Amino acid sequence: MSPTDLATDSVLIVEDEPKIARLVADYLAGSDFAPHHLDHGDAVLPWLEERETLPELVLLDLMLPGTDGLTLCREIRQRWPQVAIIMLTARVEEVDRLLGLELGADDYICKPFSPREVVARARAVLRRSRAATAPDAAASEALLSLDDEGWRALADGHDLALTAVEFQLLRVMMHSPGRIFSREQLMDHMYRDHRIVSERTVDSHIKKLRKKIAEVWPEREIIRSVYGVGYKYQPEE
Ligand code: CA
Repeated sequence: MSPTDLATDSVLIVEDEPKIARLVADYLAGSDFAPHHLDHGDAVLPWLEERETLPELVLLDLMLPGTDGLTLCREIRQRWPQVAIIMLTARVEEVDRLLGLELGADDYICKPFSPREVVARARAVLRRSRAATAPDAAASEALLSLDDEGWRALADGHDLALTAVEFQLLRVMMHSPGRIFSREQLMDHMYRDHRIVSERTVDSHIKKLRKKIAEVWPEREIIRSVYGVGYKYQPEE
């Protein structure tokens, strides 16, 4: 598949019920999205790995054959933080978990839903994620850039020489400027094996990360602590 096969507003639909998938795909296609459909959980990560151009949004069913939607959501969020995720679920009791940063979905839609609702939510989520990286807000981000392949962060072109954990923390926070992350949420992103670390470990990694940024920009505080809650990435007031 060539990169041009995925247009700007490409959406990956992961749904094992053919009727729902077809209905949603038709609606999205009729609303200037380029939908692609997968019906098995195990197909999702390999499909994304092969993409030269990632979809902007994944509509992810919770209950799937193979790898389930929760696991996929977590994996996608960690590996491709720039991709927005909307969960499709019939299990209302899961909603808090889905939206909590524990999993990091951008939104959820409860089944049964109307395809029109899906299109409206997709537009809203994409608008939000674009606003987060819009030119103005991103003027300073352009100065601070992440090289995902090399796990490097460059500030005004200087390599900050981050450790893998520091890089991961910065990447997670930069994905959602202004969003406050608790230490627990950050821990979840730091170690993929979910080993138990203390909240002080997070503080100490953040401290080192800030110090490295301060070496390049002594005047700018882009990682802010929120007293009693956690941290956020906010380049400008
Ligand atoms: Ca299903």
